[in-house]
Amino acid sequence: MKKLLFFSAVLWTFLSTAQSVRNEILVPVIPGYEVLKCDFHMHTVFSDGTVWPTVRAGEAWQEGLDAIAITDHLEYTPNKEYVPVSHGTPYVLAEKTAAGLGLILIKGVEITKSMPPGHFNALFVKDEAKIHQEDYRAALREAKAQGAFVLWNHPGWKAQAPNGAVWMPEHEELFREGLFNGIEVVNHYEWYPEVLGWSRDKNLTVFANSDVHDPILNFLKQENLERRPITLVFATERSPEGIREALQQGRTVGWFRNLLLGKTEWLETLFLASVSQRIITAGEKTTTLQLTNLSDFAFEFAESENPEKVTLLPARSSVILKVPRTESGTAYQVRNLLPGPGEPVTIKLPLN
Ligand SMILES: [Zn+2]
Ligand SMILES: [Zn+2]
Repeated sequence: MKKLLFFSAVLWTFLSTAQSVRNEILVPVIPGYEVLKCDFHMHTVFSDGTVWPTVRAGEAWQEGLDAIAITDHLEYTPNKEYVPVSHGTPYVLAEKTAAGLGLILIKGVEITKSMPPGHFNALFVKDEAKIHQEDYRAALREAKAQGAFVLWNHPGWKAQAPNGAVWMPEHEELFREGLFNGIEVVNHYEWYPEVLGWSRDKNLTVFANSDVHDPILNFLKQENLERRPITLVFATERSPEGIREALQQGRTVGWFRNLLLGKTEWLETLFLASVSQRIITAGEKTTTLQLTNLSDFAFEFAESENPEKVTLLPARSSVILKVPRTESGTAYQVRNLLPGPGEPVTIKLPLN
């Protein structure tokens, strides 16, 4: 009987592996870095999610992700009648599945308080249960003592911020004490332009996370999304430590629909590595360029002569762009690369 069970387990593993297909996401090669596709916020039945922890690892692998954190609520466990409250268990349950898929699994929790200060994710925690404390300051101090990286979740979530995100004195106090260093500019299906401004002004690491509760395919279908919000991490090595170092240094870009959100340096790096530029004609007033995209990101441009926006579609497509040549140089804006609200990145050409 034992043998039979063993063989069925092997057969099942083989079949499930053989049938799973991973949809790779095309990201550019950037010398010195690996661009890792990550989601640092999701739930399972161990809080208010509807799936088992192993499912989160399988979904993420199929969707082309490299790393995830399962971040069940510490304070909100509505399934406790059926699923024991055991804060470290989602990680333990998903660990083997993730390892078998080469997916990086990061130990995390969601500290869940009313506003102010709201919800925070602590990543790279050591002892989840110890962070479960009534006082939010005590919880965040414990996370810091464990060496966690902490981000403020969904600052503009309507249920907690009906008039939009507000940076309250409580947030200022936590920020000054160094109790959080990152912020969600995108959560679930919404993005917060004002929060992008804070991330730039206060040098907070930018995150775009799914906060998925249901099976991911249900969520994508409901919200008519091609893929979940993703945090692109520019890591010097493909490991939890590599990710932690990149988060501490702010080397991330949030990716949601066509939007790429983050620090100018990393948006520029991502664009220049994704798109090749070829000058077709260089006139006195106008330069004509062919831009070719080798990534899965889309890029949007505005031309002065063409009021319609020009979109460079993902993966192996090209557009012709007319760029005005002025005294200050030849440059164009990429409208969907945003370091701040309404402030697209400008790409300068080495001309003039
Ligand atoms: Zn939350
Ligand atoms: Zn959440």
